[in-house]
Amino acid sequence: MMCAMERIRIGQGYDSHRFDANRPLVLGGVEIPDAPGLKAHSDGDALIHAIIDALLGAAALGDIGQHFPDSDPAYRGADSAQLLAKAVAEIHAAGWTVGNLDATVICERPKLRPYVEKMRARLANLLACAVGDISIKGKTNEGMDATGAGEGLAVHCVVLLTAQA
Ligand code: MG
Repeated sequence: MMCAMERIRIGQGYDSHRFDANRPLVLGGVEIPDAPGLKAHSDGDALIHAIIDALLGAAALGDIGQHFPDSDPAYRGADSAQLLAKAVAEIHAAGWTVGNLDATVICERPKLRPYVEKMRARLANLLACAVGDISIKGKTNEGMDATGAGEGLAVHCVVLLTAQA
């Protein structure tokens, strides 16, 4: 018989990408206009990449690079939302559901606040949980280091998984 603590798992994810002005910016499955995109093999959605790693980490199912290798041409320009949907299906198949998610996106610009509600709605849909279970916070790095110099963007994320009833 499981004890109470065996019915929840925590996972942590991190991702960062350099800006690439020639691409559109997609974060949390939402396109953000008038901002440089992110250099990547896929669409560069660093928020979704960090979420995928947090989910896989919580379930001890490896990492995003194992599941969706950037050496595989199938993932060139990939819609990261589709990769997240696949990761969520794996989490569900392993007997877990998403309890809640909390993410911090670090960049000097653009300001993310106007897009946070749209991202929460999209992510809640992809993660099969309520919008109230999704938190996305934007921070600057106060001008420090490469992120602060505006060279790119970084994301930290934690998720809680609960065992399916
Ligand atoms: Mg990435």
